[in-house]
Amino acid sequence: MARRTLIAGNWKMNGLGADGVALARDVAAGASKVAAELLVCPPATLLARVAAALAGSAVAAGGQDCHGKASGAHTGDVSAEMLADAGASYVILGHSERRTDHGESDAMVRAKAEAAWRAGLAAIVCIGETLAEREAGRTLGVLETQLKGSVPAGASAARLVIAYEPVWAIGTGKTPTTAEVDAAHRHIRSVLGGLMSGADAVRILYGGSMKPSNAGELLAIADVDGGLIGGASLKAADFLAIAAAA
Ligand code: PEP
Repeated sequence: MARRTLIAGNWKMNGLGADGVALARDVAAGASKVAAELLVCPPATLLARVAAALAGSAVAAGGQDCHGKASGAHTGDVSAEMLADAGASYVILGHSERRTDHGESDAMVRAKAEAAWRAGLAAIVCIGETLAEREAGRTLGVLETQLKGSVPAGASAARLVIAYEPVWAIGTGKTPTTAEVDAAHRHIRSVLGGLMSGADAVRILYGGSMKPSNAGELLAIADVDGGLIGGASLKAADFLAIAAAA
């Protein structure tokens, strides 16, 4: 099953107007040289401006989170419909920083994924084990529990992407071995197979300290269909170098 590689940048809470737009433009300028699909997910404040700067390019824009409801009394929140209105076609959901900082449960992530689909967005659902869970030999079980709890019924490859992000690898410079990534991704695909039809076509990204120097090795793993990139997505040259390694 051919799956087009997706390289997605998670800018997190970084970027002010001019610099964010310039970063998006620099990514767009290099996009024609890479075969992978490219996506940047700026902070919500920049989404409309970044999406406008990317218009007509091969780079998509996405959000970093959304509320489960379309509108209403939810101070500070942003709905999936608002993200779509601002130019997003994807939204990252259940990132470990959301799960930790905002207490997001699998059930909340699932509701957000349903909201994303309602608004016509593809959901990038993040899962991953903590260091304590890995050291206790619980990695595959944790991934299975998170997947079963976070992926709504009715999933399809067109609107679901999974990002495997070991929590201990995010922003730390540490990465699992290729054998560990391979085992996690195989397990994720096998669990997905029990949750939906067409699981072979779902893209499973690896995220956690991916950079130009290790991207080739990680992206060569059979069930790794791209990357979710944090720190290295803030420099267009590094982000494009990761995409070129795919
Ligand atoms: C992330 O937060 O999604 C991530 C992968 O971060 P980093 O690449 O900085 O480890």
